Amino acid sequence: MLTDYHVHLRQDHIDATAENHFTTANIERYIEAAGQAGIQELGFAEHMYRFTEALTIWDHPFWQEWALDDIDAYCEVVAASPARLGIEADFVPGAEDRISNLLDRRPFDFVIGSVHFIGDRSLDTEEFTIWDERTDPDEIWRRYFETLADAARSGLFDVLAHPDLIKIWGRAGRRPSRDPRFFYEPAIEAIAETGIAVEVSTAGLRKEVGEIYPAEDFMEMCVEADATFALSSDAHEPGQLGFEYPAAVEFLERHGVGRIAVFDGRDRRLEPVARTVSS
Ligand SMILES: [Zn+2]
Ligand SMILES: [Zn+2]
Repeated sequence: MLTDYHVHLRQDHIDATAENHFTTANIERYIEAAGQAGIQELGFAEHMYRFTEALTIWDHPFWQEWALDDIDAYCEVVAASPARLGIEADFVPGAEDRISNLLDRRPFDFVIGSVHFIGDRSLDTEEFTIWDERTDPDEIWRRYFETLADAARSGLFDVLAHPDLIKIWGRAGRRPSRDPRFFYEPAIEAIAETGIAVEVSTAGLRKEVGEIYPAEDFMEMCVEADATFALSSDAHEPGQLGFEYPAAVEFLERHGVGRIAVFDGRDRRLEPVARTVSS
C-alpha cells in the first residue's frame, strides 16, 4: 500500500480559484496521476485557511487575505469522488472549540494538523515571517515543538503534518545552537502519549532544506516511542503525487517501519508499505 493524503487541489497562489480547481475534472487528473504513481489511497487536504469559515477561528490578516472559498462546496466535490476527503487544519492555540466545530460537522476521512505560525508570525512564508534579525533560533525552535506537542494533545487531528517544518529554510541562520533532539523532546512525548500519526512527507525534498520531513533523528525518536506514520507528498499539482516516493519507502524501511496509516471516516488502520514504487 502507498498513500498520498496530504494533497492540495491547487498551488498556493491567491488566483488559483476554487471554480477552476474544486472540480470533478481536476480531481480526475489527480486520480489518474495517482494510479500512474502506484498510489492506492489518494486523499485531498485543502488548507483550512482558504475557506471563509476559517475566519470564525482566527482573523489574522494572512487568513483574511486567503479565506475566499466555501468549505462545503469543497467537501461536496471531493466526497463525490473516489478519493478520501481530508483537510489541512492549522492548530490555533486557544481556538480548539471553534476548530472542532468546523471539523466535526463535516464528513472528513482524516484531518491533518499543521503548525505554520508561532503566535501571529509565520514559520514558512516571507510575509509575516518570524525570522528577522531579532530572532533567536533556539527560542523559535523551542516554541515550535512545544506548539506541535499542544497540537497533538488537542485531539483535533489524525495526522501531524510535516513535523519539523521549522527546518524548511535549511541553515540560513535559522538552525538552533543546540542539538535539535533537545527541542524535539516535548513533541515526541506528546506523540507517544496521544498516538497521533506522524507524517512522513517528501515535500521537504522540494524545499531549501532538501530532506524528508521529519529529520532522521526525529524519526528515530518517534520509532523508539512506538509511533504510527502516515505517508504523503504535500503535492500541489498532479505531477507531484508520490513525489520522490522511492526515497520515502527507503526511509521508512531504514527505520524499520513496515506499516502506514490508512484512514476512512476518521478511523485508522495500518497497512503494509509497498516495497517497490512504480514510476
Ligand atoms: Zn502545511
Ligand atoms: Zn500542505
